[in-house]
Amino acid sequence: MENIGNYNFTNKKALIRVDFNVPLDGDFNVTDNTRIKAAVPTIQKVLSGGGSVIIMSHLGRPKNGPEAKFSLSSIVDEVSKLVGIEVKFAKDCIGAEAKEMASDLKPGEVLLLENLRFYKHETAGDKNFARQLSELGDVYINDAFGTAHRAHASTAIIAEFFPAEKMFGYLIEKEIVSVSKVLNEGESPITAIVGGAKVSSKIIIIEKLMERVDNIIIGGGMAYTFARALGGKTGNSLVEDDFIETAKEVLETAKVKGVNILIPIDTVAADKFGDDANTQVCDTNSIPDGWMGLDIGENAIKDYVSCVSNSKTILWNGPMGVFELASFQEGTRQIALAVVEATKKGAFSLVGGGDSVAAINKFNLANEVSHVSTGGGAMLEYLEGKELPGIKAILN
Ligand code: AMP
Repeated sequence: MENIGNYNFTNKKALIRVDFNVPLDGDFNVTDNTRIKAAVPTIQKVLSGGGSVIIMSHLGRPKNGPEAKFSLSSIVDEVSKLVGIEVKFAKDCIGAEAKEMASDLKPGEVLLLENLRFYKHETAGDKNFARQLSELGDVYINDAFGTAHRAHASTAIIAEFFPAEKMFGYLIEKEIVSVSKVLNEGESPITAIVGGAKVSSKIIIIEKLMERVDNIIIGGGMAYTFARALGGKTGNSLVEDDFIETAKEVLETAKVKGVNILIPIDTVAADKFGDDANTQVCDTNSIPDGWMGLDIGENAIKDYVSCVSNSKTILWNGPMGVFELASFQEGTRQIALAVVEATKKGAFSLVGGGDSVAAINKFNLANEVSHVSTGGGAMLEYLEGKELPGIKAILN
């Protein structure tokens, strides 16, 4: 494995797997170019080092071969604009034309290949397809964190054809370093804020985090399964009956390990799921029948903000309430602001996995935390301690 920071790219063709799976409008214009912008430092590094770049990506979920609406040709202009040079486009990611265009590439030039997923071999992790891609470049760089948890041809299998000349791009490097800053080198007090809809999807993370952190703040729908585990009455709130026992075990383990688990003291309860619902604030352990908890209450906010302000390391995964609805966004917004404040005071903050990324973007605070992850599912699995194929393939 090589390191992008000190690799000599002179006259090298770098094959870079990026995640340009960007949203497009009805006229195929890019409506959010965050993912393209995020890959620019890696692309620029190769170009300024005297190399050329061949970009591989997927876009959407084409089912059976090429589909015009998933063509990466729609994003060529946006990539050209952001990289600052005219990017060439190969109408097929493998085959004679791609080979010729790649071979003709001169230092300082960039070639974007058509959607990898126009071949089912990509997601199948087909070795022969990976070999054909590998023949286009001299060096392989993986900078697609969003797909690092998949053993696809271009994210993992291809690395076999670059036994030494393979490396992470800056984006993946930052994701790895950020997780390490929390889980391995985190300065205490370390606080994990875990929210979102269900306990079932976050339980492995919570168990893993208990080995490392000082505080776990629980919010969102899953708080009510914990409230039930503590014997509370939760009305119509989202509760996973099958996980009440698990929640009890988590609370027991936390006691043994000395981890402070914070459950919201109060709740904003609604008489229906919608912005026009009637609301009342009540104790989380006594939500009236017919009412459902959709956000944390004022006292919980105070409690959580105080915990976050005293933290030196913060991981945030999942919203505190139904932040998509204006009436139930306050808990999530206040937590976002508290994370920002703590970051200003010197804490390291990682926002990753699930809807907390959407929330921090909604509140326009993404630039005010230490790192916002680019990979939802990948970040979740990485935090769970799983080995991600895209990362393993480079490290091996
Ligand atoms: P996740 O993908 O697991 O992070 O869950 C995010 C979703 O959880 C968001 O769409 C929220 O609207 C939803 N959510 C948060 N709090 C609640 C709640 N109290 N009841 C129901 N859904 C919630």
